[in-house]
Amino acid sequence: MVAGVKSLLGHKRPIPAHVAVYAFVIIPFLALLAAVPFAWGWGLAWLDVVLAATFYTVTCLGATVGFHRYFTHGAFKARRWLRIALAVVGSMSVQGPILHWVADHRRHHAFSDKEGDPHSPWLFGTSPLALVRGFWHAHLGWILDRNLTNQERFAPDMLADRDMRIVHRLFGPLTIVTLALPAVLGGLISWSWWGAITAFFWAGLVRVTALHHITWSVNSVCHMIGDRPFAARDRSANFWPLAILSMGESWHNLHHADPTSARHGVLPGQIDISARLIWLFEKAGWAWDVRWPTRERVARLRLQSA
Ligand SMILES: [Zn+2]
Ligand SMILES: [Zn+2]
Repeated sequence: MVAGVKSLLGHKRPIPAHVAVYAFVIIPFLALLAAVPFAWGWGLAWLDVVLAATFYTVTCLGATVGFHRYFTHGAFKARRWLRIALAVVGSMSVQGPILHWVADHRRHHAFSDKEGDPHSPWLFGTSPLALVRGFWHAHLGWILDRNLTNQERFAPDMLADRDMRIVHRLFGPLTIVTLALPAVLGGLISWSWWGAITAFFWAGLVRVTALHHITWSVNSVCHMIGDRPFAARDRSANFWPLAILSMGESWHNLHHADPTSARHGVLPGQIDISARLIWLFEKAGWAWDVRWPTRERVARLRLQSA
């Protein structure tokens, strides 16, 4: 590790938290693997599907609109209650405490696909074996590194906000809430213990895993495969098959070319559900100073790449 990289890092993750990281990466994944035969054997109730889709959509948008476009990149300004709500709902996507998330992601942009980037697939070379290793590192392996990003350097604004420090510390309880709430709703609506168990399984564990792997695919797949119509200084790419499930985050090439833009899917036909939600917030008067991309700016970014 070069000397310059050292100041990028803060404290090491404590052992109990590190064990929890392993547990939350592996247990929901095993649940997903078990899901197919489970569904085959017992069927899947409509209530489970509705709860899973709802929790997926809401917590995914908490991460994409909240953690990513708002907190990390400042794509818009928001009322205080919305700021706190986005922090809470984003935490319920179980992608780590908010201060870690924001610091890691700003570091990703600062060093994109170069040494210092916490999750580039391009750090090990370009041979087939190096790319397999790179894919694993970018997708999941980097999360298992105990060295945490230096928050004082990358997220001083977040550290200075007492509400954000509180939400950060509540990550454990919020993880329990995001898994328990579907079970409670499933139990109450179906008025059965079995309904609680299946809702916990589908809308809790399976939903968290699906969201994990879609989000991680933006870090791995969207830095390896896809179109690069815009001028970015890295290997970021637009990968259309994930546009809907990632709520617009897979238009990742535009995002790296213009990180503070509130809209990532800027070309005709590029669906961006996160941008639509920010638009609704703006219409409601809850968000303002939204950094919408202008036609001229998009044209300039395209020209630079050509
Ligand atoms: Zn990226
Ligand atoms: Zn970003």
